Amino acid sequence: MAFIPPDSRKPVFRFAPSPNGRLHLGHALSALTNEALARKAGGRLLLRIEDIDLARSRPEFVAGIIEDLGWLGIVFEPGIRRQSRHFEDYGAALRRLQARGLVYPCFCSRQEIRAEVAAREAGTGRPWPLDPDGAPLYPGRCKALAPEEAARRIAAGAPHVLRLDMAKALAATGNALGYVVFEADGSRREVEVRPERWGDVVLARKDVPTSYHLAVVVDDALQGVSHVVRGRDLEAATDIHVVLQRLLGLPTPLYHFHRLLLDEDGRKLAKSRQSESLAELRAEGVQPADIRRQLGFS
Ligand code: GLU
Repeated sequence: MAFIPPDSRKPVFRFAPSPNGRLHLGHALSALTNEALARKAGGRLLLRIEDIDLARSRPEFVAGIIEDLGWLGIVFEPGIRRQSRHFEDYGAALRRLQARGLVYPCFCSRQEIRAEVAAREAGTGRPWPLDPDGAPLYPGRCKALAPEEAARRIAAGAPHVLRLDMAKALAATGNALGYVVFEADGSRREVEVRPERWGDVVLARKDVPTSYHLAVVVDDALQGVSHVVRGRDLEAATDIHVVLQRLLGLPTPLYHFHRLLLDEDGRKLAKSRQSESLAELRAEGVQPADIRRQLGFS
């Protein structure tokens, strides 16, 4: 893999949607923010399709993304990277972490994790810690598994994920880790990360040989992305990305986290809540200029 160090050429921005539904206004905000900041920086703008979830990604959604972005008038550089075609790149990164003993297989199902967390809470009378997304930290049962036993189960075909041993990872990265946030007005600030609040995150899933965290880190480096512009919902996950970048010897881009659009109930817009898609808005006669204006871009 040849990694392009950021800052060595024009700034590189990317919009990276997952094709498991039609784009809605929240995506438009993200894409338009990328466009505006890339333009301001005289940078390049890439489109990446994050379709590692083969069960949820659908070709018609990829076509829909391209259609909707074209309709909005956002111009991307030719050459769309589709993550599902690059599992080998993520596998290579994973093997490097495995070779350093930073990854372990985990055979626990979600129910088993929930049951163990409940048992520990009952035992201590204290709530079990949750990660920033509200999921319980992995209690660590498989971390204690003898390597021979883990190998035996894998050979027998037992379904498993691969987890990052966060304590070991942080011992390996050493000193305090951080990254730089940039704002539209050009100001910058340093942020120190607290990856331990995520615990032993999954780097490869049962059904997919990678995870969002690993793929996004590898791709941002492979594509020479220097400026990551994404929603505040991914701000906390950046801590994990910085650890992975350090472990893999990859550069850490600059980050900008844009606001999230909320629906009438104050919840984040999401495909699962049937927020109106750009395609539906278009069918109702809404124009791209209306959307740009509504979101604060004119
Ligand atoms: N694919 C992610 C999403 O659609 C965004 C990834 C990123 O910007 O880092 O939420």
